[in-house]
Amino acid sequence: HNSAYRYPRCPEEAPWAQLYPGVDNPVVRVVDIGCGFGGLTVALAKLLPDKCVLAMEIRDKVAEFVRLRIEALRREHPGAYANAAVLRANAMVNLPNYLARGQLDKAFFAFPDPHFKAKNHRRRIVSDALLSEYAFFLRPGGLLYTITDVEALHAWHVARCGAHAAFEALSAEEAEADSCVAAMREETEEGKKVARAGGAKYWAVFRRKEDADVS
Ligand code: SAM
Repeated sequence: HNSAYRYPRCPEEAPWAQLYPGVDNPVVRVVDIGCGFGGLTVALAKLLPDKCVLAMEIRDKVAEFVRLRIEALRREHPGAYANAAVLRANAMVNLPNYLARGQLDKAFFAFPDPHFKAKNHRRRIVSDALLSEYAFFLRPGGLLYTITDVEALHAWHVARCGAHAAFEALSAEEAEADSCVAAMREETEEGKKVARAGGAKYWAVFRRKEDADVS
């Protein structure tokens, strides 16, 4: 479905002023990859009012739902949520169209599709190749967050991020002290579904190392 969509050739050509009306020189600092219905995106926008939060979602109807949700929130709470926006995009392909090296403080991967079968693991949104890309867009010291209800996928996140030269795991204490972790645990639609069903949630946070070579 890629051909039906237009992407900017580079981040400078993206319509930032339209996405973040009223924000001076908007620069995306936080991404919610595979945002679904956007619960985490709007929670992060509230939690981090000085940072532009960008949701990315591949399903066009779902991205449109989130766009309307943000518009409604802006009408309801004048002055708030100007720092939240959504794009229909394939995050496995189009990050370089929208982001530049080192600009991100945080990247969230909440309840990504598990792709259970071994032959489909290369389609997972956390993979060795894509982690190198995320490391490139995260600033030194920037954080990558994962959460899932699939224990085997959590083990994969821990193993892949742990093995990657650019990332190190946060200690449990450091992660618990981060209010974004609470938002990630409580505010996504998928996480609420899991909680209603009495399921477990497994999460982790990784730091983009200060001295990593991401070129
Ligand atoms: N993060 C949300 C939550 O926790 O409620 C949604 C989780 S849902 C299980 C996974 C989402 O990722 C779906 O909405 C799906 O369309 C989206 N997705 C899958 N692959 C994607 C990609 N390559 N780029 C952007 N979004 C993607």
